[in-house]
Amino acid sequence: MIFHLGDTVTAIEGKTATLKSGGTLETDLVVVGIGVRPRLALAEGAGIKLDRGVAVNQFLESSVPGIFAAGDIARWPDPHSRENIRVEHWVVAERQGQPAARNMLGAREVFDAVPFFWSQHYDVPINYVGHAEAWDEIAIDGDVAGKDCLLRYKSKGRVLAVASIYRDLASLQAELAMEQGRE
Ligand SMILES: Cc1cc2nc3c(=O)[nH]c(=O)nc-3n(C[C@H](O)[C@H](O)[C@H](O)COP(=O)(O)OP(=O)(O)OC[C@H]3O[C@@H](n4cnc5c(N)ncnc54)[C@H](O)[C@@H]3O)c2cc1C
Repeated sequence: MIFHLGDTVTAIEGKTATLKSGGTLETDLVVVGIGVRPRLALAEGAGIKLDRGVAVNQFLESSVPGIFAAGDIARWPDPHSRENIRVEHWVVAERQGQPAARNMLGAREVFDAVPFFWSQHYDVPINYVGHAEAWDEIAIDGDVAGKDCLLRYKSKGRVLAVASIYRDLASLQAELAMEQGRE
C-alpha cells in the first residue's frame, strides 16, 4: 500500500484519479473519506461565540449563560493538552453530555475527562487516549507490525496521547495517569 500523504484527488474520470500534484492513479475501487463539519448556523444566529465549533468553558457553557454545548460541536479548554480542543468521538460526546446536563440543572461540574476512542480495522483494534495535534516525538514500545504495541506521542517530554494495539491495560493506565496529571 502506498500513501500519498499531503496530496489530494482533483478529478476522477473512468478508472483514473488525478492527483493535485499532477500524477494519476489507476483504480478499481475508490473509497471517499471527506470528513465532517460542525453545523454552526443555529449557534451563530443566537450570537454564541464560535471558534471552529461552539466555544465553551470548563463547565461546557457557551458565551451565552444557560446555553451549553457537548460532543462534536463543542470546543472546550482541555486541561491535559492545555489547548482548546474539539474532538469528534463517541465516548467524548457521551461523557460531555452528562456534566452538560447536570450543569444545566445548576451543578458546577468541570469537564476534565481525557479524550478516548477506539477503532476496529479488521483484526487491528486501535485504542487512543489523550489528544495530540502536534508532537515532537513518538516513543514506540513493542512491535507495531506484530500488532502488539503502545505509542506515546510526546511534546517537550510530556505525553499528550497514547495509541495502542492489544495493550488495553496499559492504555487504561495511561488514561488514569493523564487524569491524575502524572503524564
Ligand atoms: C462515518 C463515521 C464514522 C465514525 N466512527 C467513529 C468511531 O469509530 N469511533 C468514534 O469514537 N467515533 C466515530 N465517529 C464519530 C461519532 O459518530 C461522533 O463523535 C458522535 O456521533 C458525536 O455525537 P454528537 O451527539 O456530538 O453529534 P451527532 O451524533 O452528530 O448528533 C447531532 C445531532 O444534532 C442534529 N442537529 C444538527 N443541527 C440541528 C438543528 N439546527 N436543529 C436540530 N437538530 C440538529 C443532527 O441531525 C444530529 O442528529 C464517526 C463518525 C462518522 C460520521
